[in-house]
Amino acid sequence: MTTAGRVEQAREPQYPAISSDSVTWTPKPAIELSSQRAVRRHNLGVVLRQVVERGPRSRATIALDTGLNKTTVSSLVSELMDLGLLVERGAEARATAGRPGLVVDVAREGAVALGLEINVDYLGVQATDLAGGSRYKAIEAADNRRRGSDVVLDRLADLATEALREVRAQGLRPIGATVALPGLVDVTRGELLAAPNLHWTDVPVVELLRERMGADPLPLGADNEANLAALAELWEGAAVGLSDFMYASGQVGVGGGIVLGGELFRGYRGFGGEFGHTTVEADGLPCACGSHGCLETRGGLEPLLAAAGLDSEQITTTGSGKPVAELVKRAEAGEETALAALADCGRWLGVALGSVVNLLSPQAIVLGGYFAPISQWLKPPIERELSERVLGGAAAVPPVLPSSLGPEAAVRGAAATQLRRVLADPTLVNA
Ligand SMILES: [Zn+2]
Repeated sequence: MTTAGRVEQAREPQYPAISSDSVTWTPKPAIELSSQRAVRRHNLGVVLRQVVERGPRSRATIALDTGLNKTTVSSLVSELMDLGLLVERGAEARATAGRPGLVVDVAREGAVALGLEINVDYLGVQATDLAGGSRYKAIEAADNRRRGSDVVLDRLADLATEALREVRAQGLRPIGATVALPGLVDVTRGELLAAPNLHWTDVPVVELLRERMGADPLPLGADNEANLAALAELWEGAAVGLSDFMYASGQVGVGGGIVLGGELFRGYRGFGGEFGHTTVEADGLPCACGSHGCLETRGGLEPLLAAAGLDSEQITTTGSGKPVAELVKRAEAGEETALAALADCGRWLGVALGSVVNLLSPQAIVLGGYFAPISQWLKPPIERELSERVLGGAAAVPPVLPSSLGPEAAVRGAAATQLRRVLADPTLVNA
């Protein structure tokens, strides 16, 4: 089943302006020129982000808030209008006397980025505009474990092409696409190195997608789905304003994204955050990754549904949405088997999260993916385990928050990653 369509709405997040007056120029003309261009690009980003993050405003207000002078702001705004990223609209409402200035706003028909997702039981596409508004989305349930990577990528390319056609029909300009993947990703090369639940190894996703979308030479990227979801929670979800948190994602596997000091923590080779494969039992059950006793074998969706007496096979035919909705229904009705299964899942998550909290001391734990709709039942056993396992007493136990973006977190993070390149350097929109 594919659900697709246009949708409306929201907004995003920061950086100080660099005043060209305060830059000390080197004496060499070539370097001076490149420095001037770098300052200009930086300041274009500062002005664009002011409007994106804080809403429509006049040039005078932008000058006041950025510390840039009015002439510079006017020139930067003109360039952003030429780039098709800002438009002029009406007069600014003011409390003070004086002639109101015209406001500039993010162009409705400006830049848009695609977030694409390959997961074990579905494919997803999301188009987000510069103001954070969702302009198109499609989710297709699919048993990707039983299809080869070529077939899955063919279908993802079709979904992406359809999304591009739709956003172009809305007058938008696509600036890039990032693919969210359920496994270890070499972000530099755009390769999926290993996805145990898909049984895929060494799939050059970006290269294969580029071949399939040959007519559309968009910048393409790839990253781990939980990393992208954690970034989406940081930028526009439950973790806005937090600097250190652990994102735990329930999919068919269990994923994780770690944000430390406001940045995604990837680890030495970029493979960090594999929360689902932390050991909870030294001699535990075999895991799809080849090891045994991983959290995923106890706190994953399949053991949870099986313990609740639900058909975990359904995941492969309808996606995980239906069996999880059924589990929620049974839990709400107070069915004992369902409640016991949820309590057990929460306990295993709490065991693994206890180690995470002792290692990293995060401000919060965010529960995403299918953990979000069942978070009310997972929270008490997680908190009980944390209070027993975390050093430092109650004050050291972080709050457990449900994701506010739900299953869209990864695709929204994927699209936002591309948009943030343009917010940092708006001239890239013509690249
Ligand atoms: Zn494992």
